[in-house]
Amino acid sequence: MHDVRESRYHVGDQPMLIAGDWTIAAEGEWIDVESPRDKSVIGRIPRGRTEDVERAVAAARRAHPAWRDLRPRVRGDLFRRIADALEPEQERIAQLLSLENGNALRTQSRGEMQFVVDCFRYFSGLASEAKGESIPLNASVLDYSRREPLGIVGAIIPWNAPLMLAALKIAPALVTGNTLVLKVAEDAPFAVLAVARICQQFLPAGVLNVISGYGTEAGEALTSHPDITKLSFTGSTTVGRRVMEKGSERIVPVSLELGGKSPQIVFPDADEDWVIDGTIAGMRFFRQGQSCTAGSRLFLHESVYESFLGKLVDKLATLRVGDPLDESSDMGAIVNRKQFERVCDFVSDGMGQPGVQVPLGGLPPTEGPLSHGYYLQPTVFAGVNNDWRIASEEIFGPVLCAIPWKDEQEVVRMANDSAYGLAGFVWTHDLGAGLRTAHALEAGWVQVNQGGGQVLGQSYGGFKQSGIGREFSLEGMLDSYTQRKHVSVSLER
Ligand code: NAD
Repeated sequence: MHDVRESRYHVGDQPMLIAGDWTIAAEGEWIDVESPRDKSVIGRIPRGRTEDVERAVAAARRAHPAWRDLRPRVRGDLFRRIADALEPEQERIAQLLSLENGNALRTQSRGEMQFVVDCFRYFSGLASEAKGESIPLNASVLDYSRREPLGIVGAIIPWNAPLMLAALKIAPALVTGNTLVLKVAEDAPFAVLAVARICQQFLPAGVLNVISGYGTEAGEALTSHPDITKLSFTGSTTVGRRVMEKGSERIVPVSLELGGKSPQIVFPDADEDWVIDGTIAGMRFFRQGQSCTAGSRLFLHESVYESFLGKLVDKLATLRVGDPLDESSDMGAIVNRKQFERVCDFVSDGMGQPGVQVPLGGLPPTEGPLSHGYYLQPTVFAGVNNDWRIASEEIFGPVLCAIPWKDEQEVVRMANDSAYGLAGFVWTHDLGAGLRTAHALEAGWVQVNQGGGQVLGQSYGGFKQSGIGREFSLEGMLDSYTQRKHVSVSLER
């Protein structure tokens, strides 16, 4: 087994976790994992298929009764200890993450790894909060509810924030007494497997199982498995639809965290430097725009359109795109060839629109150091029509569309004219306008005058085709991973 500290750029073969054992696929097949920083193969993961998923689900099923019946405080306590054990490993795992998914270490991966530790601590404290209630009926009846775990959770995560998203499935599912089979993304499996290795030092065998493989093989086997009693999926809306379809066959509850095409609305009084910085953060340029909450449609009031855009382009041009492991890089690489080509296709499509302007970026360099990996400069399209493909489909790349607006109702209508409804950003000093707009946006999460990431405690999730269910909070944990049972007792006998 290679360690990223000893051999920075080679991770080797990393088996899956099934029933407490580190194991290869039943059929002995492997998937190569490439680093987008230089397109080199950095290691391999087992190509799990139906038989492997069956082993993992069987292990989760065997482990469930004892885990369910543990005192909640004891389950919570294990996660506090896991968080403590992860702390000294943070830098190593953050480097692994940058190596595999191309996010810059300084601006992204360290923060994401810190989130894992915080998330485990947060949910460790909530383990005892799966409380029920009693209903006032009359003196001779006791009617109370219990919150019981759903059973065996099948969870699937994407590559863009794999550590954060794995932690958000593992901790709430397990502290509430479920057992879990988690499928990692084939493009970014190593950092999550490294976290699972530390979890496994504390958890009983079979409580947490982590499988690797392709979505159409291991993913489908998991969503189809008859013993899975809850599906929790984060990824694209297309695959989310498929997961829901599979869940509907067996009436299995499904949580979906899906895609977005979120608006940022800049009012006339917000043509200021701090808003420029805020919209850059909101667009998630520091993670190459590869974020479900990216504010990729920038609605600029026509009175500040030219001035704001000029300052934005100047600021974006100072961002340094380069090796994700290099401390001086602000932005890293696009995760893989497929995504890179997809983003380039959107850029070409945008460049072909009549009347479009491209004040920054465009297609990637074909020579020089950046051509050795999947690197794209920040790209800004101006004069965009809200109906164009680049303004309506999720690009998942560092591509921002600037759209002018005149009046508040019109901009809200354009912002809401989307199948998605994940996030939104409003920029203004006018509190009334800011909150009116926040309330009018059809989105699960609206930020006013800030462009940060999700925080623990907030019930985060999408409206419309951006998802079903909430994560990050106590309420999200209770709704996603427990079910209520009522017990009605006559006190007369
Ligand atoms: P994806 O949907 O292609 O893949 C996500 C996961 O699903 C991977 O593990 C993949 O192997 C698996 N999968 C693929 N096909 C499957 C199938 N038929 N059955 C079961 N599993 C299958 O998404 P991606 O390209 O990896 O990630 C990017 C997408 O994720 C974007 O749309 C982004 O907006 C979304 N996302 C949403 C959130 C959120 O919180 N709403 C967070 C991160 C990413």
